[in-house]
Amino acid sequence: MGLYVIIAGAGKVGWNLARELLERGDEVTVIEQDRRRYLTVEQELEHAVQYGDATELWVLERAGIQRADLVVAVTGDDEDNLLICQVAKEKYLCERIIARCNNPRNLDHFKLLGIQPAVSATDLILRLIERLTMADRRVGALIVGGGIAGAACAEALHAGGFDGGVLLAGREPDPPYERPPASKGYLAGTMDRAACLLHDEAWYARHGLELATRTSVMRLDTAAQEATLSTKEVIGYGVALIATGANVRRLRVDGAQLEGIHYLRALGNADAIRAEAQEAERVVLIGGSYIACEVAATLTGLGRRCTMVMLEEAPLSTQFGAVAGAFFADLLRGHGVELVTGDGLERFEGETRVERVITGSGRAIDADMVVMGTGAMPDVMLARAAGLALGETGGLACGADLATSAPGVWAAGDMCEYDSELHGRRVRIEHFEVARAQGRAAAAAMLGERHPFREVPYFWTDLADWATGEWVGLGVAPEREIVRGSPGDGAFSVLHLAGGRLVGALSVERGDDLAHARRLIAAGTELAGREDELARGDLEAL
Ligand SMILES: Cc1cc2nc3c(=O)[nH]c(=O)nc-3n(C[C@H](O)[C@H](O)[C@H](O)COP(=O)(O)OP(=O)(O)OC[C@H]3O[C@@H](n4cnc5c(N)ncnc54)[C@H](O)[C@@H]3O)c2cc1C
Repeated sequence: MGLYVIIAGAGKVGWNLARELLERGDEVTVIEQDRRRYLTVEQELEHAVQYGDATELWVLERAGIQRADLVVAVTGDDEDNLLICQVAKEKYLCERIIARCNNPRNLDHFKLLGIQPAVSATDLILRLIERLTMADRRVGALIVGGGIAGAACAEALHAGGFDGGVLLAGREPDPPYERPPASKGYLAGTMDRAACLLHDEAWYARHGLELATRTSVMRLDTAAQEATLSTKEVIGYGVALIATGANVRRLRVDGAQLEGIHYLRALGNADAIRAEAQEAERVVLIGGSYIACEVAATLTGLGRRCTMVMLEEAPLSTQFGAVAGAFFADLLRGHGVELVTGDGLERFEGETRVERVITGSGRAIDADMVVMGTGAMPDVMLARAAGLALGETGGLACGADLATSAPGVWAAGDMCEYDSELHGRRVRIEHFEVARAQGRAAAAAMLGERHPFREVPYFWTDLADWATGEWVGLGVAPEREIVRGSPGDGAFSVLHLAGGRLVGALSVERGDDLAHARRLIAAGTELAGREDELARGDLEAL
């Protein structure tokens, strides 16, 4: 498709440029303020020339600057060229701008404004236009997001002998790392940053994978198969993975802006929490899910006094059910964590720092710092802007094989809302191993093996070294919970049944049960009337 180009100045360069661009099929308006020059050029270019001073807004607007793909300022006056470019860039948000710099001493002024300067002639400017309007380079696969999903996809592409370069672009400063230690060993200080990395930075280059850290993909054009990076580079791609993960869900309550209130998603957040916890005595955790539980356990282990405030009647009960909830409540209380259940956050109070948490029931809890465990939201900014279909949970809508609505574009991880055959509905799952498995599945699809994603979701949570809970399941509310072993002994499993089938299992210190549960869930085995066997029998026999 041709470009719409505005050229300010119909001198020799502007005129030649217009001729060349018109010839290659672009639409052009040349603006010329000298009446005689205008009349001469108009004889050849006719309505592609407009009379007027391009430093005036109304002249630019009449020329249609609002829809210009490219503005080229080639008047004989550097100051005018600078002004026109600045207006095009800052007022009309035109992304591609070229200016002729008549006096080389002015080059720095152009560069400071981020304007591409050309010292002279038409063919040089034409080359610049080519560079600006074509992808700077092409890769076989572009992976957006350097979390576990993106990294697993890159690894699997390499292992599968993917033909064509792979670029893994991630916004964070670190190479892809594991997030789970951020609330566990890394927060406790028993695991260092290097130990959290999936691979060190050199590993990627050694395996022929290009890793760009601190690099966001700002724009994705799925029709042109091009992405614009925060470095301004335009990358053409063959296939792409969107694995942009999730961001914390921020609560807007009074006092939310006070210092000392933390959210936890990245290693940097864990650094800030650990540093501040050194000075804090009383920590309040908001939420009853795994982040709040794990941080409470870790900080208690570091000698802090922790209080958890949650809407649930018991921690972790929303995901793992009432039996597991009671077990984790006893565990936390037994180690000195105070639990405020069935109560929500109303507001924070304090001068500049948080000093108190006020709950919905009016309770005031003193706090030197607060950690919010209030969930995450899928990061679909890029996908939405690219016009990709979104799903009901706010994730990026995908088919059973993780393909998005754009050909050649796949999704994986926390923001992937896929049509799950296993669940019988669209689901979005925020578990580490699921994100990894989806990254691998997307890579397989890119390599030509498209299959429905049928992995049974697995999740684990460590509460310091007090207990580890492991879960497999479909996230369906259980009609019945069957306990194997004894929570009192710290070794038990809870099997969740619904519709006569196993839909989930939580296990503490009974890994074998979990493996069987995974198999029974995957197979959809009919288990109605077999409750006794499930409670006391050999699961292998089922
Ligand atoms: C503190 C913590 C503890 C956890 N513990 C457990 C646990 O014990 N067990 C478990 O199963 N799960 C756990 N999880 C969840 C698990 O870590 C996530 O499910 C997993 O990290 C999701 O991986 P992802 O690759 O989909 O997304 P992310 O890890 O969020 O990675 C996405 C990356 O994409 C980047 N990005 C976004 N937009 C762009 C863009 N436009 N351009 C470039 N980059 C972009 C983001 O900055 C981010 O680095 C934990 C999560 C947290 C935060």
